[in-house]
Amino acid sequence: MSTTLITNIGELTTNVSSPLDGAVPIGGARPDSRTVSGDSSASRDSISRSGHPGDRFGTLTDAAVLIEGDRIAWVGPASEVPAVPGGYLEVDAEGRAVIPGFVDSHSHIVFGGDRATEFEARMAGERYAAGGIRSTVAATRGASDDELRARLRGFLDEMLTQGTTTVEIKSGYGLDVETEARLVRLAAEVTPEVTFLGAHVVPAEYADRGDEYVDLVIGEMLDACAPHSRWIDVFCETGAFTVPQSRRVLEAGIARGLKPRVHASQLGPGEGVQLAIELGAASVDHGTYLSDEDVAALAASDTVLTALPGVEFSTRHPFPDARRLIDAGVTVAIACDTNPGSSFTSSMPFCIALAVREMGMTTAEAVWAATAGGAAALQRDDIGVIAPGRRADLVMLDAPTRVHLAYRPGVPLVKKVWKDGVAVR
Ligand SMILES: [Zn+2]
Repeated sequence: MSTTLITNIGELTTNVSSPLDGAVPIGGARPDSRTVSGDSSASRDSISRSGHPGDRFGTLTDAAVLIEGDRIAWVGPASEVPAVPGGYLEVDAEGRAVIPGFVDSHSHIVFGGDRATEFEARMAGERYAAGGIRSTVAATRGASDDELRARLRGFLDEMLTQGTTTVEIKSGYGLDVETEARLVRLAAEVTPEVTFLGAHVVPAEYADRGDEYVDLVIGEMLDACAPHSRWIDVFCETGAFTVPQSRRVLEAGIARGLKPRVHASQLGPGEGVQLAIELGAASVDHGTYLSDEDVAALAASDTVLTALPGVEFSTRHPFPDARRLIDAGVTVAIACDTNPGSSFTSSMPFCIALAVREMGMTTAEAVWAATAGGAAALQRDDIGVIAPGRRADLVMLDAPTRVHLAYRPGVPLVKKVWKDGVAVR
């Protein structure tokens, strides 16, 4: 088993609250004396959602992390590294910041073609509508498995280079039984977080027959896709699926053992958020237009609100107000929503910068949302944090602090990435 020590870390973000609150202990560290409190959010976030005192970002200075195999073995002060029989490979961070690998909990990266022309037209003043998905459907149906696979793997490389170590991938550009099954099968080759999104939009051949299309989605299509999927999703929005249709899709998926997540309130207010909460969805995604009732219901639920600021950037829509959500006690995640129509970025650092600049988040909150928040949105407790026993997925920034992710937008700050304990770049 390979052992690596990353030492001389100037700022380590663990996302683990103080061991004093009974969370996963950080070996040997005394976070009460080492916790960074210079971040303006520290006092506001000093009481976590579960009511524990302490810094939920779990920030340590002059720190070290020991990796054994694919897991984190120890975290603490660089001056207190335990003896390791057999030794270890030492990586000197030279004072740089280390954060958990990004968990991108929302992507659509199995598709054919692109929509650069549509983007250019939109930037010239045309309005975004959900129906643009259909042009990608035509290109995806016409692409071979090998073409889709090569494209998919290219996106994954692109994401890894930018520090993303876990990605959720949705179907939704097939919209017929055969192609949707191909998409979830291809996605399952590269991630366990596969989402069946046959209910992305009503395909052209079912125009004005949405209920009949839902029959297909929850029948033959679900039969073909459920074996390759963990999640069921629906685009609950004007121009896509109504609330009753969305309910049928989600309930059918749940009956097949899939867990629900929902696209809602992207283009306008609606009842999709309430439906997601009622059905126990892990996450409701977009949430640009939320009522006070939606926010209160989210805060009282275990459902994560996943903000997708790349969409607002690329569609010139107003950004969701993350400050309002966090202050109300909602758990907020950030994801890229990589897709050829409304958000063709795969960069979590870019989305963090947008979240800070446009959504009212502090950098610490945005990094938490892009790591631990994404893990919460996928109901995973083995990723999104740096703590003993968790997966050794880490990112070293070419910067002394995570603040640079928002402070230096567009700059390639990801210097090294470890996934499952392996230095992949
Ligand atoms: Zn999406």
